[in-house]
Amino acid sequence: MSIRNSTVGPRTTAIHAGGEPDPHTGASAPNIVMSSTYVCDEPAGFSAHDLNEDSPFLYSRWANPSVAALEKKIAAIEGTEACLCLASGMAAVTAIFLTTLSAGDHVIVSDVSYAGVAELARDTLPRFGIEVSIVTMSDLDAVAGAIKPNTKLIHTETPVNPIMRLTDLKAVCDLAKQAGAKVSCDSTFASPIATRCADLGVDYVMHSVTKYIGGHGDAVGGAVAGTTENIRTLTLEAGIHHGGVMSPFNAWLIARGASTLPLRMKAHEETALQVAQFLETHPKVTKVLYPGLESHPQHDLAKRQMQNFSGMMSFQVGSESDGDRIAARMAKDLEIIHYAVSLGHHRSLVFWMPTEGLMESSFHLEGKQLESYRDYAGDGIFRLSVGLEDAEDLNRDLDRVLG
Ligand SMILES: *Cc1c(COP(=O)(O)O)cnc(C)c1O
Repeated sequence: MSIRNSTVGPRTTAIHAGGEPDPHTGASAPNIVMSSTYVCDEPAGFSAHDLNEDSPFLYSRWANPSVAALEKKIAAIEGTEACLCLASGMAAVTAIFLTTLSAGDHVIVSDVSYAGVAELARDTLPRFGIEVSIVTMSDLDAVAGAIKPNTKLIHTETPVNPIMRLTDLKAVCDLAKQAGAKVSCDSTFASPIATRCADLGVDYVMHSVTKYIGGHGDAVGGAVAGTTENIRTLTLEAGIHHGGVMSPFNAWLIARGASTLPLRMKAHEETALQVAQFLETHPKVTKVLYPGLESHPQHDLAKRQMQNFSGMMSFQVGSESDGDRIAARMAKDLEIIHYAVSLGHHRSLVFWMPTEGLMESSFHLEGKQLESYRDYAGDGIFRLSVGLEDAEDLNRDLDRVLG
C-alpha cells in the first residue's frame, strides 16, 4: 500500500506510512537497522552524486533504512514529496541556510525566533558573506520593504518561540514568490497537524523532531520536508557532505512517537485550552498568550492558519521580580510539571524567560521591534508546554506555585 498518494486519513497515515512489514521476516513493527555499511550485489559508484531514489543502501551517512522509514512517515504526515532527517533541529536549520544561501545572497529572518536560530543567523551567516535582515514577520509591510534583488530565502517561524506571535505564511509566501525567493518555516511549535505549511506555499518545512513529532523527550532530531528536488539537494549537501545525519536508533524512537502524533496533538490542544482558560482567570496571572484563546492578538489568523492550536502557551505574572520569585518556587515545588527547557513532550514543561536576559543573549532587539516584543512578553514570560496529563492536575500544580 502506498500511503503517500492515497486518500487515507491523517491517523492512518501517521501509523502506516514508512512502517510496512519487514519483507524478509514479516515483522509487523519496524526493525532498527544499525549497520553502517551494506553488502553490494555488484560494484557501485562511490560518489554521492551517483545516488538516486532507486539506489541500494551503501553507507549509513548517505541513507539508512530506519532513518528512511522516518523520512517517509514525516513526508506523508506533512503532505510533501520528500523529507530529510538530521541530527537535531539546529542541524536542520543550518542545512537550509547553508544549502540555499551563498556569499552575496540575502536572507530575511524573523526578529523573534528560536534563540539558537536567531544567534546562528546574526553571528554566523555574515562570516560567510551572507547578508541578514532581522524583520518582524507579522508586519507584512516590513517584510515587503526588506526584500532586495539578492534575497534568496525568508526564514519564518510560527507560532514563534517564546512569545506565540504568528506569521501569515500564505501572505509571506506570496511576497517571496514575486521576488523569486524561497520560504522556510520552523513549524516546530505548530507540528504538521496544526499548520499545513506546504499547502500555504512554504518550500522548506522544518521541525525540531525532538519536540512534538518525537513527542516523548527521549531523542534529539531534526527534519526538513519539501519537494523531491529540494530535498535531494539538501541530502547531498547537508546530509552527505556536512554529515550531521540522524542515528538509526533515534529515527526508530521518533517514528514510534510520530505514529501517535495526530492523537497526541488533539489531546495537547484540549488540555492546553483548559489550562489557558484557568490561567486567564487566575488573579496572579496578568496575560496568557495561546492562539486558541479569543484574547490572542492574532486569534483570527490562528483560526485561519491552524487546524489545531497545539499545546504551547506563554503567560506573564507582572514584574520581573515576581517572575523570578515564582520561577524559583516552580523549580522547587512543582510536583507534576517539570521545570525544564524543551517542549512538545507527553510531560508538561515550564520555563521562565525574563525579557532583558533574552534580549542580551539572543535577540538584541531595539526600537519598534523591542516594543512589539514587550507588547507580547512584558518583562518576561513563562513558556508552558502542556503535556498529556489531566488538565485539573496541571492547574492544581500551577495554582500552588503561583500562590
Ligand atoms: C528546539 C527547537 C529548535 C532546535 O531544535 P533541536 O532539536 O534542539 O536542535 C528549533 N526551533 C524551535 C522552534 C525549537 O523549539
